Amino acid sequence: MHTTLVLFRQDLRLADNPALYEAAQAGAVVPVYVLDDTSPDEWRMGGASRWWLHHSLTSLAHDLTQQGSRLILRRGELEAEILRLAQQTGAQAVVWNCGYEPFAQEGEKRLADALQKRSVATRGFHGNLLFTPGSILTKAGQNFSVFTPFWRTALQASPPAAPMKRPRKLAAPSRWPSSDKLASWKLLPTKPDWSGGLRQNWKPGEATARQTLSEFIDDKLSHYGAGRDRPAIQATSRLSPHLHWGEISPRQIWHAVQAHIHRHPAAGQNGSKFLSELGWREFSYNVLYVHSHLPERNLRQNFDKFPWRRDAAALKAWQRGRTGYPIVDAGMRELWHSGTMHNRVRMIVASFLIKHLLIDWRHGERWFWDTLVDADLANNAFNWQWVAGSGADAAPYFRIFNPVLQGEKFDAKGEYVARFVPELKNLDPRLIHAPWRADAASLKTAGVVLGKTYPKPMVDHDAARQRALAALAHMKTQVKELAA
Ligand code: FAD
Repeated sequence: MHTTLVLFRQDLRLADNPALYEAAQAGAVVPVYVLDDTSPDEWRMGGASRWWLHHSLTSLAHDLTQQGSRLILRRGELEAEILRLAQQTGAQAVVWNCGYEPFAQEGEKRLADALQKRSVATRGFHGNLLFTPGSILTKAGQNFSVFTPFWRTALQASPPAAPMKRPRKLAAPSRWPSSDKLASWKLLPTKPDWSGGLRQNWKPGEATARQTLSEFIDDKLSHYGAGRDRPAIQATSRLSPHLHWGEISPRQIWHAVQAHIHRHPAAGQNGSKFLSELGWREFSYNVLYVHSHLPERNLRQNFDKFPWRRDAAALKAWQRGRTGYPIVDAGMRELWHSGTMHNRVRMIVASFLIKHLLIDWRHGERWFWDTLVDADLANNAFNWQWVAGSGADAAPYFRIFNPVLQGEKFDAKGEYVARFVPELKNLDPRLIHAPWRADAASLKTAGVVLGKTYPKPMVDHDAARQRALAALAHMKTQVKELAA
């Protein structure tokens, strides 16, 4: 019987999985996941991602078993492991859904070349984005560097194809190859096990992803525009880790939202706003596709001359949520506890690191990479460069968030801060975003001793703002001098 190896990567789902679907039509299927931890890859998975992967693979293996199949796990260098498996199973073909990160593309190319040399057919499908990177272009055939015209053009292109059903049956090969035991990969943290907050907040897997989407559409989509900037409430979809791991495809989301809008036209505006956020994901992937160095290098080279400060103590205070700015600390502690952070607060903490502390955005990007359950090379790098002002269609550097005003605007009742910075929870909401402005009596009643129970602000906002603007001016002078 014709046998196909299906290489799972960031597509840990059975439904709308073009590679799996096609393989199932052709004959026997051997589903495989290879943990390639061997290459000296600086973007090796972070701790929160490894936790997610463990549970997502458990869920995928369970779903495959229900279909009469199995998930074969191998650890090692991708190319070597797949070649070995192809030989062991006598597979005539190896298929996958393409990754778009530079290392994924290179790895797939090497793999395809090696397999073709051994007369094993290969095919990469597109299933993880709405529009294949590089397919949405200006009239002149160029890549877009600004989001709005990119998304407008995408919306005018042929709509994404309807999602595929999960294959009805997965035929087993005549003999199953051996598989690693997932536990032997030690993806879960021990000594200490810091994953309690992750367990409370997340349940990886395709079934949860689908349920999360349908609950979001039924209960939250109609308030998305109004609620999405308020970190104290769960008004967004929380689909990002499921999307990153491909437990749900963007096409499934797109079509479910479109169908809802069709049934409830009043949901149109919120639905479009939500889909445009998926558009930012598409745009980030396009920018990474065009600029493979996005995660490591400033897209605007002027920023190579930016006078970043090296300050390990300040970086640590930021990472641990001990800056003395409550909204920043709440965000950083939410991240540490639950592996995520609300988008509005991601922007605030990133701006604080880059502009108030003058620390290079790449340090923040790395910290997020290790701690986020949705850590995603394209989205993370794109957004860090967006906040820094060094990226594509980025916020200008001189726009410096005031963390107190941001807190008062988006967390007016101080509920988000009270949840993640409990030592401030008894402060009057009007003071919770700037406890240093509280008088001695209010602090005493709330049990707050600044500098003891909660840090004093590590920098003064106005002074930090001036320092950031001076750094920007310095960079511009340097660039001018070089050009002269
Ligand atoms: P929703 O509001 O429900 O949005 C739906 C989906 O759209 C998200 O799941 C996500 O896939 C996509 N999306 C939303 N906002 C953005 C955006 N700004 N850029 C790209 N895609 C977006 N997102 C990640 O998935 N991984 C990251 O590593 C990541 N790092 C970030 C770093 C910084 C500094 C900032 C400011 C943002 C980052 N984001 C990242 C984008 C965004 O914060 C998250 O996608 C969002 O908070 C996820 O919550 P949600 O699924 O409820 O979003």
